[in-house]
Amino acid sequence: MKVLKFGGTSVGSPERVNGVKKIIESQPSSCVIVVSAFQGITDELKQVAELASDRNDEYSVVLERIVWKHDDFLNHLLKGRKQEIHEKIRNIFNDLRETLNGIWLLRELSKHSLDQVLSTGEILSSLIINNLIENSLYIDSRTFIKTDSSFGFANVDFALTNSIIQRTISDTGNHIIVPGFISSNQHGETTTLGRGGSDYTAAIIAAAIDADVLEIWTDVDGFMTADPKKVEKAYAIDNLTYSEAIELSHFGAKVIYTPTLRPVYKKNIPILVLNTFNPGSKGTVISNKSTNGTHSPIKGISSIDHIDLITLQGTGMVGVTGTSMRLFGALARKEINIVLITQASSEYSITFAVSPADSQNATDGIHDEFRNEIDHNKELKILIERNLSIIAIVGERMKNTPGISATLFKALGRNGINVVATAQGSSELNISVVIKNESLKKALNVIHDGFFLSRFKELHLFVAGTGLVGTSFLKQIQKQSSTLLSERNLKVNLIGVTNSRKMFIDRKGISLEDYRETLKTKGEKGDISGFIHQMTRLNLRNSVFIDCTADQNVASMYNEILSKYVSIVAANKIACSSDYNYYQTLKNTANERGVRFMYETTVGAGLPIIKTLSDLVLSGDKILKIEAVLSGTMNFIFNEISPEMPLSEAIRKAREKGYSEPDPRLDLSGTDVVRKILILAREAGYPIEKEEVIVSKFLPDKCFTGDLNNFYRNVKEYDAEFEQKRKELVRQNRKWRFFATLDNGKAKVELVTVGPEHPSFNLEGSNNIILFTTSRYRELPMVIKGYGAGAEVTAAGVFADLMRVVNI
Ligand code: ADP
Ligand code: ASP
Ligand code: MG
Repeated sequence: MKVLKFGGTSVGSPERVNGVKKIIESQPSSCVIVVSAFQGITDELKQVAELASDRNDEYSVVLERIVWKHDDFLNHLLKGRKQEIHEKIRNIFNDLRETLNGIWLLRELSKHSLDQVLSTGEILSSLIINNLIENSLYIDSRTFIKTDSSFGFANVDFALTNSIIQRTISDTGNHIIVPGFISSNQHGETTTLGRGGSDYTAAIIAAAIDADVLEIWTDVDGFMTADPKKVEKAYAIDNLTYSEAIELSHFGAKVIYTPTLRPVYKKNIPILVLNTFNPGSKGTVISNKSTNGTHSPIKGISSIDHIDLITLQGTGMVGVTGTSMRLFGALARKEINIVLITQASSEYSITFAVSPADSQNATDGIHDEFRNEIDHNKELKILIERNLSIIAIVGERMKNTPGISATLFKALGRNGINVVATAQGSSELNISVVIKNESLKKALNVIHDGFFLSRFKELHLFVAGTGLVGTSFLKQIQKQSSTLLSERNLKVNLIGVTNSRKMFIDRKGISLEDYRETLKTKGEKGDISGFIHQMTRLNLRNSVFIDCTADQNVASMYNEILSKYVSIVAANKIACSSDYNYYQTLKNTANERGVRFMYETTVGAGLPIIKTLSDLVLSGDKILKIEAVLSGTMNFIFNEISPEMPLSEAIRKAREKGYSEPDPRLDLSGTDVVRKILILAREAGYPIEKEEVIVSKFLPDKCFTGDLNNFYRNVKEYDAEFEQKRKELVRQNRKWRFFATLDNGKAKVELVTVGPEHPSFNLEGSNNIILFTTSRYRELPMVIKGYGAGAEVTAAGVFADLMRVVNI
């Protein structure tokens, strides 16, 4: 015979119960069917009992809700059926009312009466389902599952239980319906098997009747690699050993109640975990066969959301035998369930994890036991840490695979998740870590990404700046997103976007098509520190901050961003060209935190200049000299000057075409090029400051004071002089180039002239050229040349940096 168990999730509504009916009716032979209370009912019964004992009037409201819900099931499922069932149900509710009334009068809720109240849920659901399934038999589990009197968590008397089951349950050709979760003690009083205990009921029966298989029908496709409510990418595991399933469920995988596994394990009866809502899926087989068809050395990850860590610590423990025995004896007397234990090898402390509900009781127990050492000698003390969670990774194959801890800790470390304590089971079947509860979801996801080949990797973007570069970048992302997903398994989510006026963050993602509209209509007032605060509070894994502004305030936030384990891609030059100390701090922080700080586009837009330079340096080359035309704007202006296009007009044109800064004097004064050569010098290993770069201006100071109109007026005065020089240059076959040079650690920026022998002679339009003379490229310098300005190429460079962030 088979035993099938349908959980509360499978019987959440009348329609769902009809789905269960179909599954039962499709069984080729008769089975034992164990059912849970309808979804949510056990919780509501618990609530109503507590309200009654508090004499809270809300109690009748909750009670009527429970009655109403069952009426709804009856009306939908058993309309027009025998009066008998309606009457039975009425009687059950009358009994419940009486029990609750007693609790109300006594103002006390004993564990005994709570079990009495809770049992109603399973009694009702099993009766209704029994009436729904033609020719099914009904047996109340309290008649055959016999326990001690530990109400709420009763211990089964297996010898007695097994013999009664073997007498009462046999294959008569009809399905047998039984309520899960409930049992009775030797006095016939109702007990329960612990929350989630219907699974256990089914296992007890399966083991007693030597069932062929135990099927646990629930609301997910099987036992999954992680809780699908916390890890979106979790998927069903094909098979698990009993030991693996025990470890996973012990550490919180609610899909199977832990005690369930023991009776079937002993009898070697396989468990199948199946989905009521997707009956065709193959589910998970739990058996004694250890197969692992997947690439991963672990089978699954589970977690307990809330635990407290208690530490007993002090010199009173060193070299003293029997301390652990006394400690755990004290905890056992208080019936405390210990989830995890770790001991420092110095014997200076023992730390263990308990449920927060047990925390006070546990410390009281320890205090009683070690009163002398704690209060008098002060040799021991008790420390408690709260708001923690445990994560366990589990798999039989872990035993023989090195590097698992490394993968685990690397995944956590890279994402800024601090490990408070760790423990490894001696069987090497699990490694568990304790972390702060606030990081639980993030931790589960990064560990999952670290161990399982996911369908895709997700990036979470926070973009500052929606000007030309920011807009082009987001457009490129939008265009590439489906290719990135299909070819690189990369899912890029825009989570936050801000400009100087507005900001908007949405954890679920912002549509790339209408982020502008969203920012306008839903955005709040722009504030970069508020934006960054919200970004770090979200604490999403693989977060990247993209700076497409030219804003000093944004640049000054970089260190804080990197310290929060968020990578940065900057098109903004300010941070890298500010004080050398700040630049170095940013690099150090990124290194320490294992995140990336990328700024390729700060020099030469999309050209691979910084990457090349850093590769040369890393591979041991020495940079002797850099000569570069780094201002697309300046190159454009000096290439444009002609008899028809005087200097002042060429400047205007550069502005109109969007090549120059809004105030072109930032280009003409060399400020922009100074920043770039400073960055290159630093990348080449020279720790220089802005003030050390020598700038020779080619326009007098008076052009650089006053407003922009004033500037355009003043600069006209020099048109003739430049035209004169230009003619001279044409005669000599030479051209102007606005050069930045780094020679022997000294940087300068100046307007020079070059002849046809120089590689920059034919540099067209707004192009850039960079020549690296190095120990290896000494005779013939390495040359990089191409578009060095423009929103499209800069955005493409930002995109490329982002792709490099992914490859960490
Ligand atoms: P039922 O009412 O069927 O007993 P439960 O709510 O007790 O259902 O258990 C199923 C739930 O367990 C799933 O909906 C899922 O959220 C949760 N769960 C936690 N960890 C896992 C896991 N590793 N695999 C599958 N489900 C899990
Ligand atoms: N109905 C009980 C509970 O909610 C038992 C179960 O569902 O397994 O805990
Ligand atoms: Mg359950």
